[in-house]
Amino acid sequence: MIRFLKIPTTILGILLLCLSTNLSAKEKQMNITLIPALGDNYIYLISWENKGIVIDPAEASPVLTEIQNKQITLRAILNTHHHSDHVGGNEQIKEQTNSPIIGPDDRRIPGLDQVAKEGEAVSIDGITFQVLSVPGHTTSHIAFYLPEMKWLFSGDSLFAGGCGRIFEGTYEQMLTSLKKIATLPEDTQVFCGHEYTQNNLEFALSIEPNNPAIQQRLANVKQKRSQHQPTIPSTLAEELLTNPFLRSNDPALKQALGMENATELEVFTKVRQLKDSY
Ligand code: ZN
Ligand code: FE
Repeated sequence: MIRFLKIPTTILGILLLCLSTNLSAKEKQMNITLIPALGDNYIYLISWENKGIVIDPAEASPVLTEIQNKQITLRAILNTHHHSDHVGGNEQIKEQTNSPIIGPDDRRIPGLDQVAKEGEAVSIDGITFQVLSVPGHTTSHIAFYLPEMKWLFSGDSLFAGGCGRIFEGTYEQMLTSLKKIATLPEDTQVFCGHEYTQNNLEFALSIEPNNPAIQQRLANVKQKRSQHQPTIPSTLAEELLTNPFLRSNDPALKQALGMENATELEVFTKVRQLKDSY
C-alpha cells in the first residue's frame, strides 16, 4: 500500500494519459446549446472538445452560425421525425459539414444516411445514444437518450407539460410511447422540440384547477417566459408530477374529468382530444 502511494508522478501521468483516450461522455465535458428557430422550435447542439452533434435542425443558418462561432466540427445530424420543422436544415448542413444524417427508418427524412432503430445504439466519437421508438405524433418517430448525461431528446413525443398531436399514429401508440419514456430515470433531463410549456400547463390547469404542483410549475414557467428564458429542459420527475399525458392513471386526474371508472387509455384519449380543441 505504501509502495503504491509512492508511485512516481510521471507514471501516474502516463496512466492518466492512457485513461483520457477512453473518456466517457460525461468526462468529455459535454455542453448543450439551445438554438431557437422558427418561432417556437428548439434545435439542440451537443458539443465537446471542438466537435458537435446537432439534433432536429429546423433550419440551417442558425446552426451553421453557431458552429462557426464556436469553431465546432459537426460530426452528425440526428432527426427524431420527418416534419419540416425538425429536418428543414438537414441537406444544407450536410452539404456544408459532410455530417451524416441519422434518423428513423422513413424515406421522408431528407438526406438520410443511417437508420436508427430501437434497441440499437447510435455511437458518434464514443458518444452513445439509445434509440427509443415512440410512434404516435408520426408513425416512425424516435427519441434519442444519452444515458451518461441522462439527456432525452424527445422531439414531438413528450413535451414539457404536454405531448405532441397524434397525426399519424393511434392514441394507444402515443400512450405506449410516453409510458416507455416514463421508465427512464426520474432525473432525466427532457429536451423536447418546442417551447410550448406555458400553453401546455395552462391547459393542464384548466382541467385540474386545484392541482398545486401544476399551479406552481406554471408560475415558474411564466416567470421564465416573461424574461424570455427557455423552459427547457425539464426533468422527467416534473413531468410525472404535472404532465396530464403521463398521469392518465392518476385518480386525481380521473376525478377532475369525472372519469373515475375509465381506463388509462380512455382518460389519455379524452385529455388529448380536449387539448386539440383547447
Ligand atoms: Zn412534428
Ligand atoms: Fe415539431
